[in-house]
Amino acid sequence: MLKETTVPIPVLPTPVPAAAREHDPLEERTVRQEVLLDGRFIKILREEVKLPDDSDSMRVFLTHPGAAGILVLYPDGTVLLERQWRHPLKRSFWEIPAGKLDPNEPDLDCAKRELKEECGVTAAKWTSLGVLHNAIGYSSERIAIFLAEDPTEGEQALDEGEFLECWRVPFEEALAMAEDGRITDVKTITALFRADRIVRRRGA
Ligand SMILES: [Mg+2]
Repeated sequence: MLKETTVPIPVLPTPVPAAAREHDPLEERTVRQEVLLDGRFIKILREEVKLPDDSDSMRVFLTHPGAAGILVLYPDGTVLLERQWRHPLKRSFWEIPAGKLDPNEPDLDCAKRELKEECGVTAAKWTSLGVLHNAIGYSSERIAIFLAEDPTEGEQALDEGEFLECWRVPFEEALAMAEDGRITDVKTITALFRADRIVRRRGA
């Protein structure tokens, strides 16, 4: 049923608080949970829920262990991008190195491990670029992203069955790619624009 409202939308004073609340009036309470699919790292769950007005509904979503992604910035102003096949969309994508967290693995440890495994790169300086939730409507996945600087290149150690290419491109070109649609991967776009703000602030 369509809800009608004539109340004007209020303007919040700044700083705007976080959206998550204790005793949230928007909370949906889980009544029953069923695992529809138990994949290697993804689970698909169906939950019966009580909505805020006590009516019943159903939510189907994925759970995911979380991941870390890394934007490597070289002293010459280039950044590291991978080209990787993404089977759900049946094509390759430009993206930053990233990988899933091992059980109980801290975000930064995962970032360092994945960068070494996928690209053979270690870095002396690490800065957090925060966390992103890439599909809040149907997935619990969170990705912690980092800026890695002063890199050193070494031996790659790809997992069995892992195929990818590593390339360096000018930071400005990567930002242009994120603007014009050559880059559409959400962790890559987020990392590029957050890092750009940090790097600009330093230069100011
Ligand atoms: Mg990966």
